[in-house]
Amino acid sequence: MIDAQQKLQGQVAIVTGSSSGIGKSCAIYLASLGAKVVVNYASNLEEGQKVVKEITESGGTAILVKADVSHEEEVKAMFNQTISTFGKLDILVSNAGLQQDSSFLEMTLEKWQKVIDVNLTGQFLCCREAARQFVAQEKAKTEPDHSELSIGKIVLMSSVHDIIPWAGHVNYAASKGGVMMFMKSISQELAPHKIRVNSVSPGAIKTTINKEVWSDPEKYKGLLQLIPYKRIGTPLDVAKAVAFLVSDDSDYVNGETLYIDGGMTLYPEFADNG
Ligand code: NAD
Repeated sequence: MIDAQQKLQGQVAIVTGSSSGIGKSCAIYLASLGAKVVVNYASNLEEGQKVVKEITESGGTAILVKADVSHEEEVKAMFNQTISTFGKLDILVSNAGLQQDSSFLEMTLEKWQKVIDVNLTGQFLCCREAARQFVAQEKAKTEPDHSELSIGKIVLMSSVHDIIPWAGHVNYAASKGGVMMFMKSISQELAPHKIRVNSVSPGAIKTTINKEVWSDPEKYKGLLQLIPYKRIGTPLDVAKAVAFLVSDDSDYVNGETLYIDGGMTLYPEFADNG
């Protein structure tokens, strides 16, 4: 459905890892606000095609681009394809991520490396290409632009595990902790270029990444103990926050992490006096 406000009308957005889960919801929601969306997938062509179909059938604009975000050449090719199709870029939602869980004592270098490669190096590669593009297209402008608004917006998908330690998932927690300091540092560096960079940190959101927990009634009950708001989040909860951060409504918000977690980061164990 196309939103009447069309806050992102005419803007071009790349959403990485958008053939499923939170990324899919972000792609569909940004398109409903008028953005032309690049739906990126790593391997699941069919699911990616479904997302593009859903957007175009609702009157939106989207293309599908395959790229593994941890491979530099594929990331560059994705950005090139975006520019050759739409002529510019305004928004990057750097969402792609994965978990490869293991106890620390058993963790292999392979599992450690895979998670760091996708969740952290992938963010670096995509954010760098986006920032380069924002700066290049600004320089190429022939008419003076007197707008005070930012010339490009980046939102990184982090996690509550950028501040909550997570035994059994140290590769994931280390990657998301890295995302936080990476985001803040590039935000500081890119602000003079009028590029805004922020993160969203979801708590428990119902997607395939944590299906093992929400599909098991006992585990689900345990999960709700960690959420003061007493419900699991939805991908749309996150997409709406992302839309705020990439719109001009948040033009003075820079270098922030927005927790979308139903209060998971409020130390729920202390709710009844600890
Ligand atoms: P998901 O598995 O549905 O989505 C992850 C997406 O990333 C998939 O589409 C997958 O194909 C893609 N991806 C994985 N490796 C890739 C690669 N190398 N290149 C390109 N794409 C790749 O799970 P999700 O929950 O929607 O996760 C999306 C993001 O949200 C991740 O960064 C995850 O860490 C973060 N997150 C999720 C939760 C949650 O509770 N679901 C909580 C906090 C953070």
